[in-house]
Amino acid sequence: MAEEKDLLDIAVIGGGPAGLTAAIYGVRGGFSTAVFGGPATGGQLLQTMEIENFPGFPNPTSGFDLMTKMINQAKRLGAKVLSEQVSEIAFVCCPFKITAGGKEYFSKTVILATGAEAKWLNLPSEQKFMGKGVSVCATCDGFFYKEKEVCVIGGGDTAAEDSLFLTKFAKKIYLVHRRDQLRAAFILQEKLRSNPKIEIIYDHVPANILGEGKVSGIELKNVKSGETRKLDVSGVFVAIGHTPNTALLKDKVHLDDQGYVLVSPKFETSVPGVYAAGDVCDQIYKQAIVAAGSGCMAAMNAIKYLEMKG
Ligand code: NAP
Repeated sequence: MAEEKDLLDIAVIGGGPAGLTAAIYGVRGGFSTAVFGGPATGGQLLQTMEIENFPGFPNPTSGFDLMTKMINQAKRLGAKVLSEQVSEIAFVCCPFKITAGGKEYFSKTVILATGAEAKWLNLPSEQKFMGKGVSVCATCDGFFYKEKEVCVIGGGDTAAEDSLFLTKFAKKIYLVHRRDQLRAAFILQEKLRSNPKIEIIYDHVPANILGEGKVSGIELKNVKSGETRKLDVSGVFVAIGHTPNTALLKDKVHLDDQGYVLVSPKFETSVPGVYAAGDVCDQIYKQAIVAAGSGCMAAMNAIKYLEMKG
């Protein structure tokens, strides 16, 4: 058993909006709280150039700025924000043992907020144009493509919803799918087909993203004929799914068939005293504000659990 002075009340694993919000609520509830944010505390948002849908920011702010503010707020209130990478979590209560940076930490509760990562196409040109015309977040970046031509890669619900969302701004959206049938829900497919701004290109995969400094086009390859064609687009939205960061959690808490942490409406996982928040348990919304909200709820329930345990 850990010494009382070393024992945390709440250990938050992950330093994105969910984890930092959980920490803010944890310390403000009077409980010792540490965030294990890893070397890139701030999460996926650090890669977002401009955010203008997070309430409270009348002018666009960068993801870096927003996350720096959240980190500073958590620290000012008394949370420890650690940059050590968690290598193991032993979910054997109590306390739970967290190994990070070669050290062992102990905590009465754990909030898992390890997030998810958008899948990429793995084209060399894709990384070159990240933030310069290549995006994995239509909701974040769509606004910058007013009256432009863009393409969306993918055939699932996200690609369909992104394409429909982009019709608010772009004058033309090419939805490029690798098969001859979309995976997206029927109702979304109907909406896609009835929208004159959207053209669906089946049986094609991106071969190269083109441009000088920023995206000016994309080369597509027909998977059946091998022929290539070029689209003059200034934005490429990659919507081929997300991977939740649950490598540390397999066989420890219950995950769904996509690998997301299964939670109750109170953000409880299958292990009492362990909660989850943010994208690691969110198949649908994947928005900073939703992650922050779920971090708040997970922390409030962790606090109730701690109070109950005395
Ligand atoms: P998804 O359902 O896994 O779809 C990914 C799409 O990308 C598939 O069409 C897949 O093609 C394609 N794809 C995957 N890898 C690719 C690659 N390397 N190159 C080209 N295409 C590739 O992912 P999602 O659309 O993000 O949805 C994830 C989950 O969230 C789903 O359960 C979905 O129902 C849910 N979701 C729900 C809503 C909603 O209810 N409003 C909104 C968004 C997402 P194949 O079809 O050939 O596999």
